[in-house]
Amino acid sequence: MALSLPITELKGVGEELAKKLAVLGVKTVGDLITNFPRRYEDYSNVIPVRELHPGIVTLEATISQVTGRYVRRGMHITEAIATDETGSVRLVWFNQPYRAGAIKPSQAYYVAGEFALRRGRFSITNPSVELVGDFPVNTARIIPIYRETKGLKSFQIRKLVREAADIVKDMPEHLPQWLLDEQKLDDYTTAALEMHFPSGPEMLAKAQRRLGFEEVFQLTLAALLNKYELYKDKSIAIPFKEKLAKDFVAKLPFKLTDAQRKAVWKIYQDIDRTQPMNRLLEGDVGSGKTVVAAMASLMAIEQNYQVALMAPTEILARQHADTLYKLLDNVGYGGHVGLLIGSLKPKAKSLMHKKIKSGDVRLIVGTHALISERVDMHKLGLVIIDEQHRFGVQQRKKLQAKAGHMPHVLHMSATPIPRSIALTLYGELDISILEQMPPGRRQIKTKICSPNSRAQLYAQIDKELERGRQMFVVCPLITDSEISVGLSVEEVYERLSKKDFKHRHVGLLHGKMKSAEKEEVVRKFLDCKYDILVSTTVIEVGVDIPNATIMLVEGAERFGLAQIHQLRGRVGRGEHQSYAFLMLSDSRAPSQRLRALENTTDGFKLAELDLQLRGPGAIYGTMQHGALDLRVAKLTDTKLIATARNAAQMFIEKREKIAKYPHLAEKVSALRAITNLN
Ligand code: ADP
Ligand code: MG
Repeated sequence: MALSLPITELKGVGEELAKKLAVLGVKTVGDLITNFPRRYEDYSNVIPVRELHPGIVTLEATISQVTGRYVRRGMHITEAIATDETGSVRLVWFNQPYRAGAIKPSQAYYVAGEFALRRGRFSITNPSVELVGDFPVNTARIIPIYRETKGLKSFQIRKLVREAADIVKDMPEHLPQWLLDEQKLDDYTTAALEMHFPSGPEMLAKAQRRLGFEEVFQLTLAALLNKYELYKDKSIAIPFKEKLAKDFVAKLPFKLTDAQRKAVWKIYQDIDRTQPMNRLLEGDVGSGKTVVAAMASLMAIEQNYQVALMAPTEILARQHADTLYKLLDNVGYGGHVGLLIGSLKPKAKSLMHKKIKSGDVRLIVGTHALISERVDMHKLGLVIIDEQHRFGVQQRKKLQAKAGHMPHVLHMSATPIPRSIALTLYGELDISILEQMPPGRRQIKTKICSPNSRAQLYAQIDKELERGRQMFVVCPLITDSEISVGLSVEEVYERLSKKDFKHRHVGLLHGKMKSAEKEEVVRKFLDCKYDILVSTTVIEVGVDIPNATIMLVEGAERFGLAQIHQLRGRVGRGEHQSYAFLMLSDSRAPSQRLRALENTTDGFKLAELDLQLRGPGAIYGTMQHGALDLRVAKLTDTKLIATARNAAQMFIEKREKIAKYPHLAEKVSALRAITNLN
């Protein structure tokens, strides 16, 4: 099959070039075809010489008077004249001595390049030149610009793609014919080739739609197949007991929000069935996910089932255990809550293991320690994963395996993922969103600051500290690098503790510290032993310190909006007015993007904005979800996403056998491994 031919089969691809292509991930002819352009430049407007204007132009002309010569310091210049019926223009090439020999007189050429004034004369510098009779790839069309690497330029790639296009003429179709007909999509071969050498803007748009559709279709099909496979497993039904739920709600110190009530109700319906629950509870920081988790747990433990709640850090696990104890103790179940974390003393740990095994402890809150082989669950009915993106598939699976059957699973996430992404990526999950905040929250006052107002800002901050409040300072780096000085935790810690706030107690926290050290620092901050905590983004997740009212973010322009929003959520958790100060690295005007943080506290809106402006990477930060590596589809194209999702659903409803479509089957099975959240 032509697609699987090694790239060296193409004319002019030797070992050297093959190595460079490999850097771009291109090893076969097929890879070359799916290495779609990053962007395009439009050279399609061919104009007469008379109408030349400064900028990118294409002419159709004959080329004459070609001369080459060396000028100072070994520089070579080729000059020529391009002529059509309307006039002539000078062409100049630098250091391309082969040009003179390559151009034939009285042939018609396309000449494309930048027409500009240089040294008092108008000319086209370093133009691309192609014979009019040939299929042009560098001129007279919308030309593809590829990702380049050292020694490998777009024009070289174009030449290869052109050659490959001839030998892959009829590529196998990836999608069912009925789907192409119904969605009026181009066949694969047409679309793939149009992506490289579009015959016009409409054809390019069609090709992009076709290939983007395919990507999202595959991704959602993978997620849906995972979902339906899960349905084959049986879980244990945990019947809904209305009185128990009402009792719990009546004893809460606050009234549930509608969003919370809806989420809880959905969960109760889910776990009352033998079909395993697989639900994502998405809610911005402070939206009140814990009480939802508590209510889900309550139903299970009252009926003698165990619940395992896994959190990514010990700090979080402790906080959860405390909160859940308090919430459940209201209805007499506090005694069933236990904490299992790595740093427990051996004796305490083995006692906890025993209590878990016997079923004395029914709500087990912990870290990765929960999945240790030594932990024997008694009757695990429900698994809750906090900050689900921080755990790998394997870790989640190990925890679920403790049940001996498929338990109900509730994933929780404080990352506001725009619905379009959530549905595509997590299509296998049912989703509940707490888009509504509990009432009566004070808004966090957010202000962008420039470094020359630092002294003033520090004075204002010191007044707050004087009143007994505390401050987080978040820095983008651990150690200073050459390019950014003064932004590292180390540097800022030095500056604040020895100079600017030397009369205060300053603590230091970063990801390279041992887990026990980190715990210690956070505990000291919680106990008000520090006024200021200088930290990297490790404090992003879940830390609850109500007395901290100031969040100072250094080098704010380096962070994504969603990330700053998460950081900002570390304050405003107590009764006092809280502040977020976003310090820029220099005194340039802040971007519109950052300004959005001053004006909105809606995490979902900010995530949407990040998605529009910076792409999905900004939302996931370091998460680097493999499935998000879409080459053509834009996750901001909600219409495309919705159509592709519906099509995937239909594919399943039609009971289509995926094996009928080998390419689709292969892609989908790879994606199933990535998107799997079971
Ligand atoms: P998160 O979603 O970030 O985990 P939490 O569950 O920690 O949020 O809740 C944040 C705070 O809001 C807690 O102090 C909690 O007691 C409080 N809270 C939760 N639900 C409500 C509500 N309906 N009304 C008032 N306060 C609430
Ligand atoms: Mg939480």
